Amino acid sequence: MQSAPPRWLEVWVDHPRLGGCFIYRVPEGWEPEAGDLLSVPFGQQVAGAVALGWRAELPAGVEPQSVRTIEAVVAKGILPKEFWPLLQRVADYYLTPLAQVVRTVLPPGLLSRSQRRIRLVRSPQGECSPAAQALLRLLQEKGGELSWRYLQQQVPGAELALRELQRRGWVESFWQEQQGGRVKTQQAATLVEDSLEGLSLPQQKALQILKQKGGELLLVEWERLAGVSRSVLQSLARKGRVHLYERPLLRLGEADRPVEQDRPKPLTPAQAEAVAAIGQALGRNQRFLLHGVTGSGKTEVYLQVIAQVLQQGRSALVLVPEIGLTPQLTDRFRARLGSRVWTYHSGLSAGERYDLWRQMVISVPQVVIGTRSAVFAPLANLGLIVLDEEHDDSFKQDQPQPCYHARQVAEWRAELANCPLVLGSATPAVETYAAHLQNPQRWVRLALPQRIPQAGIPATLPQVELVDMRQELQAGNRSILSRRLQQALHETLKRGEQAILFVPRRGYSTFVLCRSCGFVLTCAHCDVSLTVHLEGRQELRCHYCSARQPHPQRCPACGSPYLKHFGTGTQKVVEVLQQHWPQLGILRYDSDATRRKGSHRNLLEQFRSGKAQVLVGTQMLTKGLDIPQVTLVGVVAADGLLHQPDYRAGERTFQLLTQVAGRAGRGSLPGQAIIQTYLPEHPILQAVLAHDYEGFVQAELRQRQEGGYPPYRALILIRLSSTCLEALERYCQRVGERLQGIPAEVLGPGPAQVERVAGRYRWQILLKQLPGQPWDRAQIDAHLRSALGHIPQGIRVSLDVDPLRIL
Ligand code: ADP
Ligand code: ZN
Ligand code: ZN
Repeated sequence: MQSAPPRWLEVWVDHPRLGGCFIYRVPEGWEPEAGDLLSVPFGQQVAGAVALGWRAELPAGVEPQSVRTIEAVVAKGILPKEFWPLLQRVADYYLTPLAQVVRTVLPPGLLSRSQRRIRLVRSPQGECSPAAQALLRLLQEKGGELSWRYLQQQVPGAELALRELQRRGWVESFWQEQQGGRVKTQQAATLVEDSLEGLSLPQQKALQILKQKGGELLLVEWERLAGVSRSVLQSLARKGRVHLYERPLLRLGEADRPVEQDRPKPLTPAQAEAVAAIGQALGRNQRFLLHGVTGSGKTEVYLQVIAQVLQQGRSALVLVPEIGLTPQLTDRFRARLGSRVWTYHSGLSAGERYDLWRQMVISVPQVVIGTRSAVFAPLANLGLIVLDEEHDDSFKQDQPQPCYHARQVAEWRAELANCPLVLGSATPAVETYAAHLQNPQRWVRLALPQRIPQAGIPATLPQVELVDMRQELQAGNRSILSRRLQQALHETLKRGEQAILFVPRRGYSTFVLCRSCGFVLTCAHCDVSLTVHLEGRQELRCHYCSARQPHPQRCPACGSPYLKHFGTGTQKVVEVLQQHWPQLGILRYDSDATRRKGSHRNLLEQFRSGKAQVLVGTQMLTKGLDIPQVTLVGVVAADGLLHQPDYRAGERTFQLLTQVAGRAGRGSLPGQAIIQTYLPEHPILQAVLAHDYEGFVQAELRQRQEGGYPPYRALILIRLSSTCLEALERYCQRVGERLQGIPAEVLGPGPAQVERVAGRYRWQILLKQLPGQPWDRAQIDAHLRSALGHIPQGIRVSLDVDPLRIL
């Protein structure tokens, strides 16, 4: 008799320390599919695992006899179908092993938090082995269902016995949430039928409220909004108008915060066109660039399209750059769409992340708003993906691998889920705009050219002014605030309006220099200067490795007491403002001030409520901040941004300044932006001044083409680091030599711009795609692997595909 050939399945084993991808044998007659939950023998234990896919052959060096057999298929398809092909694509494109991709994506302990249980399904008939009999007896005595661990402890040879009973179809095994009530639930209602016929007045009212809120509410909230008793709601369930069910209550404190209700706004013609175009593309994989200045009503467009998506019984995913901006946005979404809106970001605890996963895999239509990693949210039945502020760098993961870009992954995901992708921005990434220029049918551009009028007053873009700081110096003004900015601040505050000051750096001053010998205080572990911070007393901090030390009284090199602070950070600006306006309420908004959970929200709410008149902040200010009373935006120093030695410095500066300026005049009052610079004639600043995105992008694309940068030539950056410089250099040279013959231009190896960080030396090699020769990933992967060879101990290597920074 000829036995069937063995079949190999690659699975991801969920184990806290040893987990990863492994190959298992599949018994005949079992047909597990990618995404199924399995249990597999692992060392001395049985572990939870996820099927990744069939493999035609064993990896080299693996003997067939050594491959173990999967024990059971415990649950089918807990994750959406497109999920595994998506992860495979991420692994291939970003040159990262699949196991590492899975580890990044799945919440830790997804399976280990669950318990494998066994239950009786049919009454046994006929003979079986003694161990099987023992197992059956236990199950019958204890109510038909027990945990697998308990059975294993009680019955010797339980594994074989179980397999025997499963074969006969008498018992089955399944995974269940760990008992002990960690996941609480709360009653919720879904609208089934909205006919008002035969209903009492209170019943009608309650049903209408539910309908207005999008057909889905927590019972407590519904009760409050409708102002009726619980019995009225229950009677609606009995009449079949609504369905009541237990929904897992997330450990997300804010999730069920009641918010004021909000209705769809009558659309402007441009908005209506956008909503119609996207609406017609639902159910198709179409890409849109929603190109609208800040305040032009992009969010309203998302909201109305998402309402359609939910109505069709599908879910929507909304990706945003940073969590600082999520509270405001989330409130707007909840106000419109009710309590089906969840937030997902890296600030969640493991428990919260786990709860949210459980919520997402059930296929109730819902909306998830999240940061970068939410592109992997396991929403079933995905109907739309939105990336808001798509140009933002935080969508790219720098480390660890996979160094994915959420925009790229979203493109694949939308393709696999066959749904539209909408990228929204006032200042689209150069790559995105170039994609549209190259193929306007594939990338449809929808423009929202104007701000929405507020209170009947036509809204205009802020008026931008450049202030030449060279002239300030000549006129004898040594303050960090130009006379123009001081005057504008004065007038703004006199009118009772608010102002925002943008400072690229946090802390007090950016370096300390000895005026006697010229020594600059640097970090002991990094090649960077230390920043002065004032937190009660003076302290020096390293912004690269976070090391802290007290501020010395004398120069460590020559002992001179003449240490001077240079460069301007947020704390310094606050101090200067306090000197000018002692009564002024000032808030600082940077990562030092917002470190505590929820303090983003608190700070912004304090500012919005008018407790302070000026907000001084870093980069974080640029994102989605929408405060109507802000009419003045000051950029204290623009030049540092322009002079970064990176091919994207110009693009970043244009985007940042345009976005910051866009924070002014969001309400009914006109806004102005004042940018201080030593280089007012710089073309990037001139483009910001004229609100000229088109001009900026054309000039930028020309430069990229001449320099051989994306989108014309793709890049891969190999980053290498070690605590031992000698070993690192030696290895880098060797890799450099072995890269000969790879179909790419090889630049380096050479030290990174800041060579040493936290005691590690950092080198890099840049690969540039040859003009007009798209990369074959498999070929590049093979070349790289052989060039890297065996990586010596102590050296870390990471591959950054499509790096955003090549410093
Ligand atoms: P963006 O997302 O482009 O910055 P928003 O959607 O936040 O713009 O809109 C800016 C402001 O205009 C918000 O206060 C919003 O409520 C309001 N708004 C948007 N669309 C309309 C509309 N069609 N009618 C009235 N107000 C609107
Ligand atoms: Zn000195
Ligand atoms: Zn340091």
